[in-house]
Amino acid sequence: MTITSFNPATDAVLAEYDAHDGAAIEQRLERAAGAQRAWARTPMAERMALLRRVAQTLREQKATLAPLATLEMGKPLAESAGEVEKCAWNFDVYADAAPGMLQDQIVPSSATDSRMVYDPLGIVLAVMPWNYPFWQVMRAAAPVLAGGNGMVLKHASNVPQCALALEDVFTKAGAPAGLFTTLLVGSGEVKRLIEDRRISAVTFTGSTPAGRSIASQAGQALKKQVLELGGSDPFIVLSDADIEAAAAVAVKARFQNTGQSCIAAKRFIVEHAVADRFVEAFVDGARQLVVGDPMADGNTQGAMAKRNLRDELHAQVEASVQQGAKLLLGGKPVAGPGAFYEPTVLDHVTHDMTAAREETFGPAAAILRVADAAEAVRVANGTPFGLGAALWTADLDRARQITRQIDAGAVFVNGMVASDPRLPFGGTKESGYGRELGVLGLHEFTNIKTVWTGPARA
Ligand code: NAP
Repeated sequence: MTITSFNPATDAVLAEYDAHDGAAIEQRLERAAGAQRAWARTPMAERMALLRRVAQTLREQKATLAPLATLEMGKPLAESAGEVEKCAWNFDVYADAAPGMLQDQIVPSSATDSRMVYDPLGIVLAVMPWNYPFWQVMRAAAPVLAGGNGMVLKHASNVPQCALALEDVFTKAGAPAGLFTTLLVGSGEVKRLIEDRRISAVTFTGSTPAGRSIASQAGQALKKQVLELGGSDPFIVLSDADIEAAAAVAVKARFQNTGQSCIAAKRFIVEHAVADRFVEAFVDGARQLVVGDPMADGNTQGAMAKRNLRDELHAQVEASVQQGAKLLLGGKPVAGPGAFYEPTVLDHVTHDMTAAREETFGPAAAILRVADAAEAVRVANGTPFGLGAALWTADLDRARQITRQIDAGAVFVNGMVASDPRLPFGGTKESGYGRELGVLGLHEFTNIKTVWTGPARA
């Protein structure tokens, strides 16, 4: 099997790799197992020192790493550079916080001493998507490694250079050989990897259908799993909100990463009273986006990662227009090479239209107009997803009540949903389960062991 690196902005093939065969996989898993066993016994201070060196290496390598992400998945270079910085920040945050998070927790009971201790689980298999080819992996890797585990990465098949570059970052940072291992394999290998005795747990980020499949395989193998899946995040704007600020943030929330983010705002749910004002400011903002070569300075929207994904997005836009949505901006693929798509805004979308029912993974926004906050919440909750949500209002007391009514893993009030290493991240409903980042992200891949001790002599 060949794994092909191609540039979605030019359609050029960048490199081709033979996928790892059975013998190479075996050799890499064996090496990973040895490295993890030693790592689990490595003193905490040494583990944290490696995390810091990884952060430093990422920063040193930023000028090499960032173009790789842009070349392989089409996002503007400045966004790729920001992504590398964020990975480094994540490693620094865990290097500071993990020792405290992993300290024994004394729990009073009838014992002389009873406590929870956090042991490593073993090797975590990471099956990852291409949309943030560094961040998705490193978001998971920092807490996994801090906890004394190893990581084996099966990255998306369209970002092999990024996958190999990440392994190289760990080598350059002085990680034990095999502690972080990239396998160049197709998705057909995942089941066998999950079943392998050397794999203890799985972290998956990607689409809901693939998540279902991995969940059933991991369930069958009785291995712990964390699933970060798709989303159709609502961005609710109530009539007392700062409309201009909301619209400006909304443009970023929808179009950054060329709209290919799980936590991108996808459905803008706006109270009638302010809808015209919001829509005008939002469309004005979207019009300012400059679509073009993601390697060139000044372009703020790059190519989508694959042509088939652009075709799917276009079909969703066309279906929604046929169903009665009003096209205010864009609505077409950009002619010429590359998987470029015009920044697109659909108004008067209703909850039963394609753009509201399905995840739109690209630069197309759906605006849904509602009568009041109660209808906004009903519409927001009216999808199978539950990843993030944004709520804009001047009334923070009311906001606190509304946040509790929204089915989502996170609600951001007067801001846009974003991941932050210090805060837990994850979804509910068909957006997945388990948490990454924060203290919960670290504890997910530990064996939380209860140690009960009675008196030394009766
Ligand atoms: P995807 O098609 O599900 O692929 C993700 C990873 O899973 C890739 O490594 C892929 O390998 C592998 N894969 C695909 N089908 C599989 C299967 N049946 N069994 C085992 N592995 C399988 O998703 P994507 O297109 O890369 O990413 C977009 C999706 O990810 C969107 O739905 C988005 O919302 C979601 N996402 C979620 C989060 C989150 O944190 N919740 C973050 C980012 C993205 P191949 O490339 O070799 O097929």
